[in-house]
Amino acid sequence: MKIQSVLGPIDGAELGRTLFHEHLFIMFPGAEYDSTVTFDREAEIAEAGQRLTRLREDHGVRTFVDPCPIELGRDADAMRRISELSGVNIICTTGFYFQPMGLPPYWANSTTEQIAELYITELERGIGETGVRAGALKCATGAGQISESERKCLNAACIAQRETGVRILTHTTSGSCGPDQQDIFLAAGVPETAIVIGHCCETGDNAYHRQIVDRGSYIGFDRIGWANYNSDEARADALALLIEQGFEDQILLGQDRYTAMRGRYGRPQSAQEVADMEEAKRQGAWPPPYTHLFTDFFPLMTARGVPEERLYRMLDVNTNRFFSGGAPAASQMA
Ligand SMILES: [Zn+2]
Repeated sequence: MKIQSVLGPIDGAELGRTLFHEHLFIMFPGAEYDSTVTFDREAEIAEAGQRLTRLREDHGVRTFVDPCPIELGRDADAMRRISELSGVNIICTTGFYFQPMGLPPYWANSTTEQIAELYITELERGIGETGVRAGALKCATGAGQISESERKCLNAACIAQRETGVRILTHTTSGSCGPDQQDIFLAAGVPETAIVIGHCCETGDNAYHRQIVDRGSYIGFDRIGWANYNSDEARADALALLIEQGFEDQILLGQDRYTAMRGRYGRPQSAQEVADMEEAKRQGAWPPPYTHLFTDFFPLMTARGVPEERLYRMLDVNTNRFFSGGAPAASQMA
C-alpha cells in the first residue's frame, strides 16, 4: 500500500526509521486571536528543518509523522517546506482533537457524514488549497469518557478508513478510553491492525494495555519524556513487561514533542509544569528535542534487559508494517 507523504505517495519500504507521533507546531484553538503573542513562522520553519535534519543525520530517522489535529494550527504548507529542507518524509493526518481542548462548535455540531466527507476530501483531494493530502486519520478523546461529538468524529473516521484504507492514530487522555476507542473502530469494521491507540504510556496498567494488544491492534508508547504525564521509569517498566509478554511487534514508540507552540498551552498548567518549562527555557532546551528517545529512554530499556536492536526494530519495522497495512504476526518478521 502506498503511503501519502506531504510531498506525495511513497512506498512502505521508503518509510525507514519512523517517529510515528511527533509534532512540528502546535496552536490551541483561539490562539490565532492572541495579539499579545508573536510567532515568527519563517524562523520556526527553519528551526524545525534543522531539528529534523539532526534526527536524520544523527539517528537515522527517515520519516516523521505529525498527527496534528486539524484545529491545532495544522500547517500543511509548512510541513511540505520542512520535509524539503530536512530530507525527512513527513506524513500529516486529518481529524479533530478532543472536545475540551479542540473540536470547534461548527464541527461538533456537524453530522457524522459531514465530518467523514471532510476527512475523505483531505485524504483524497488535499487540505484546503495546499495540494497536500493527509496520509492517515487522527482521533481523540478526553479523560474518563467519550463525548457525543467525539464519538461522531470516531465514527466519521471509521467511514473514511473503510473508504480509503488509511491507518488511524489516536490520542487518549490520562490513560483512559483506549479500549473504548478500539470498541468503536472494531464494531464499525475497521481492521484491528489499522489502529494504533495512542498515549497508552500515560498509565502503567498492564491490564489496560493488554485489552488493546490482545485484540490485535497497535499500542502507542508515544509520550516518552513527558514527565508531567508519567515518569519514564514507569513507562520503561510497563514497556519491558509488554515485551516480555510477547507483544513487541505491536508497540510503536514516540514522544509527542514539538518544535514550537504558538501562544499558550490550551489548558491551565500546574505550578510544577510552569517551573519545569521556565527552567528548560533558561537552559535553551525548550521545547525539548526529538532525540530524547535515543539519548535518555533507550538506556532505561537496556538497563531492563531489552537490547537496543529490538528497540530500533520497533521504529524501523513496526511502523513500516503498521503504515503498509501488514499484520503484527511474529511469523511475518524477517
Ligand atoms: Zn500529539
